[in-house]
Amino acid sequence: MIQVRGYAAHDAHSPLVPFSFERRDPGPHDVQIEILYSGICHSDLHQARNDWRNSLYPMVPGHEIVGRVVAVGEHVKTLKVGDFAGVGCMVDSCRHCSACNDDLEQYCEEGPTWTYNATERGGEQLTFGGYSDQIVVEERFVVKVPGHMDLKAVAPLLCAGITTYSPLRHWKVGPGQKVGVIGLGGLGHMGVKFAKALGARVVMITTSPEKGKDATRLGADEVLVSRDAEAMAKAANSFDFLLNTIPVPHDPNPYMALLKRDRTMCMVGVITEIEPPLSGSSLIFGRKSVSGSGIGGMAETQEMIDFCAEHGVVSDIEMIDIQSVNEAYERMLKNDVKYRFVIDIASLKTAA
Ligand code: NAP
Ligand code: ZN
Repeated sequence: MIQVRGYAAHDAHSPLVPFSFERRDPGPHDVQIEILYSGICHSDLHQARNDWRNSLYPMVPGHEIVGRVVAVGEHVKTLKVGDFAGVGCMVDSCRHCSACNDDLEQYCEEGPTWTYNATERGGEQLTFGGYSDQIVVEERFVVKVPGHMDLKAVAPLLCAGITTYSPLRHWKVGPGQKVGVIGLGGLGHMGVKFAKALGARVVMITTSPEKGKDATRLGADEVLVSRDAEAMAKAANSFDFLLNTIPVPHDPNPYMALLKRDRTMCMVGVITEIEPPLSGSSLIFGRKSVSGSGIGGMAETQEMIDFCAEHGVVSDIEMIDIQSVNEAYERMLKNDVKYRFVIDIASLKTAA
């Protein structure tokens, strides 16, 4: 077994603290990765604090993982020792349902095995995520990261990146379309970058007018402040696609009014109830739809990394030591991060 150091939550109310545990030695199909950087997703906070009522403790969060390959099993083909690699939200799936057969492991009909807050397939052992110094994952669930990329800014691509890239591709966002990205956090700022790189006209739809000063740098053509009723009314019926990343229940109806006829708002943020209720009239008058999307399959995650390498897309990050993770959670709740915290895992060496 491999001895691993990390940070864990032990219940919904206490801060994360240093935690030692073991991982399996790499099997014939496994890749062992020395973790260098781990992004902090809002889902980490939701799960550490049991917002989704399904938390398993102790919990080592982290599903935006980048590191260096230090060992591979004898059957591993795509990675070798010394390569840089990424791990996202899943580490396993059933591999035989229609979703797995279509490279959509995130929709595995038996449920994918999440990188943390889950049990290993066919076992009792909890999975532990990226706030740790080593991880062992089967090759199918590891992507290759080109070494010339800025690795710390690549980490958030493994969740925030793929979660926004996948729906933009699925709904064929491109030139000639006006696309709105709602909520400019870790996911949203990546949504803006991807929509721009795909050739769309991009509007940041935000509750924070001051984020407007980052619009040009992120690639947005316009800023729409969602609390400005007059501006929202003026923008009615003008959007071809909306990507909604708001992490909390909220009234979806004012956003639906922004869509053109026959278009969709894709929800990626709220996993619990959307409230107040979506009005039937928001759908009926204009034949509009609300859709959802979850991360992306492994093949598409590799495609997204390669797209980023080609187009020079990475995340805007603030690096922290692991000792500051609890403070980072509080700042994320206050919407005080531009735009993703990334943990320098080297700081674990000095963790108390
Ligand atoms: P984040 O960094 O905290 O950003 C969320 C943004 O939403 C904030 O920056 C803010 O943007 C806006 N916002 C926050 N509270 C709001 C409120 N009360 N009303 C309106 N807007 C609000 O979060 P994240 O890491 O991007 O994650 C976003 C959500 O996606 C989380 O719930 C996470 O669990 C979920 N998620 C889903 C998937 C999936 O597969 N579908 C994958 C990863 C994460 P402005 O300041 O611009 O308004
Ligand atoms: Zn995430």
